[in-house]
Amino acid sequence: MSDDIPFDKSFDLEPDRVKEVAPQVRAIVANNPGPFTFKGTVSYIIGRGNVAILDPGPADDAHIAALLDAVRGETVTHIFVTHTHRDHSPAVPKVKAATGAKVYAQGPHRLARPLHIGETRRLDASADMDFRPDVALADGDVVEGDGWTMEAVTTPGHTANHMAYALPQSDLLFSGDHVMAWSTTIVAPPDGAMSDYMASLQKLARRNEPVYLPGHGAPVREAPRFVRHCIEHRQGREASILHRLGKGAADIPTMVKAIYIGLDPRLVGAASLSVLAHLEDLVARGVVATAGAPSIGGLYRLAEAPLAAG
Ligand SMILES: [Zn+2]
Repeated sequence: MSDDIPFDKSFDLEPDRVKEVAPQVRAIVANNPGPFTFKGTVSYIIGRGNVAILDPGPADDAHIAALLDAVRGETVTHIFVTHTHRDHSPAVPKVKAATGAKVYAQGPHRLARPLHIGETRRLDASADMDFRPDVALADGDVVEGDGWTMEAVTTPGHTANHMAYALPQSDLLFSGDHVMAWSTTIVAPPDGAMSDYMASLQKLARRNEPVYLPGHGAPVREAPRFVRHCIEHRQGREASILHRLGKGAADIPTMVKAIYIGLDPRLVGAASLSVLAHLEDLVARGVVATAGAPSIGGLYRLAEAPLAAG
């Protein structure tokens, strides 16, 4: 048996049509399909009557209109945001203006680490730098609504401010882009960090919610098992990198070519950043060496005398 993740690429939502996907939860997908967004960003409506909206989505007027239409006759009391990528949070100001709801999130967009000298942010355009929550949530904070409660679960890695939310009444967790059924998550420094991402996976592996509702694609079934597959998959990627470096020093393009067989050409940039994310983690643990700070253009080799790393 391989450690491959059992992906589920099924999806039965139509753009901007609302559908009940779990007790107390309606979903509505924005019409922004793409290599990073799959069929589009899924926004969720939680509760009935006095409701919350999770991830209002991109700055797309048709999606915002569909979302507001879906809650016509109801009161939106809360807006929750999983993270500040442009496919998740830019609709917040308009939805807030239309509803008067308060906005809850971990915080504004921020980098997982300071920029290195001369480093540019390759996925800069993907971040919503204008986002500010009304209420900044910490890990474990519980927000009470009308007939529902949301528990904040910090899950940094995809972004530094990524937050998942558990909905105990329905025994599920909104996993944002941290865990998705259709694909692995992009972990791209400096916005994302592999060590954070792995710790966040381990954190979810200790939880019991059987179902996750992600930011893209179908629900994650048998979620704890799926999370374990995600952990094993990244451990496998790390092993592949170390295997390649065992043959001699290599740069990131060489490693991507060796590791990602049959990769969609549109995803080469993201795969390169994902390898960089692993290398940052490996350098920090003393397993791999490079000149200066780990960078996208760097040359990497196995460290001659690895530190006893945990
Ligand atoms: Zn997303």
